[in-house]
Amino acid sequence: MVTKSYINLYNSKPFSRNINLAICDLTRNNKDILSSYQIGSSVQGTPILAVKLGCGSTKILVQGTHHAREAINTILLLDQINYMVSLYNNDAVVFGINIRELLNRITFVFVPLVNPDGADLVLNGKEFICKEYQDKDYLQGESFLYWKSNINGVDLNRNYPTSYPSTDLAKSPGSEGYPGPYYFSEPETYALKILTECYKFNGTISYHSSGEEIYWYFNQINENRDLIIAKSIALLTGYELIPKEESTTGNGYKDWFIENYQKPSLTIEVSPYVGPTIVPAENYCDILEKNINVPIIFADLVYFMEKCND
Ligand SMILES: [Zn+2]
Repeated sequence: MVTKSYINLYNSKPFSRNINLAICDLTRNNKDILSSYQIGSSVQGTPILAVKLGCGSTKILVQGTHHAREAINTILLLDQINYMVSLYNNDAVVFGINIRELLNRITFVFVPLVNPDGADLVLNGKEFICKEYQDKDYLQGESFLYWKSNINGVDLNRNYPTSYPSTDLAKSPGSEGYPGPYYFSEPETYALKILTECYKFNGTISYHSSGEEIYWYFNQINENRDLIIAKSIALLTGYELIPKEESTTGNGYKDWFIENYQKPSLTIEVSPYVGPTIVPAENYCDILEKNINVPIIFADLVYFMEKCND
């Protein structure tokens, strides 16, 4: 039951504004089960919105587009929310899970667009960013399709403190890999830090775009629990599970979350490898099909694994 898709917003201008308007519309039209609120603002002052769905005590975060060129995931998250609303309205069951019953057990928090400034730069071009940033040394050139960072040139998924740092860090602001002047230096990552400290999520999903792979490991104590969950999501999506020996990057949201909360956390890379550029809209149908049920199955697994350990 996939209803309307938001893919038409992928090439719309200004992207972040249209996404935030779509989120407000969606919540206004479904007030009985959805609410949205601002968790922070980007460097340029664009509101970063969260959408809350359900009222259960098990709390799940789903977030996307830490990396600017991976904004296809913002569309995916809007479609996932809309799909769950449809399931709720139709009292539907998927994989034996009744969605109304699930939403009594689970509270989902979606943050569809973590890096609004970066997404606007990539999808809409330099004229859609503030004048004061257009002249920055690191923002010279015509096309920014390859850009991953925020508008300060900080790679948001390298801005989290972890005991094992990433091995691919850059020394100065640029398109990717620069961890920032200090951890949580950026308003986008600081907003996620506060949100996470507030909710103390039982599990999280970080959506990225490259390689049809799932990362799940970061030296956690409860490795077997998290491997079972990751394997189930790999089976559902058909994506490859990255062996723990190859999970070498640090300083990402997932790494920080696992280290601090010791709860299941996945990074899901949704598209076949496309090189250093945006995911073409043609790839989206397949991405949506593979991921539409991921939040539901992930949340259900997290819930029952916790019950088993009670
Ligand atoms: Zn990424």
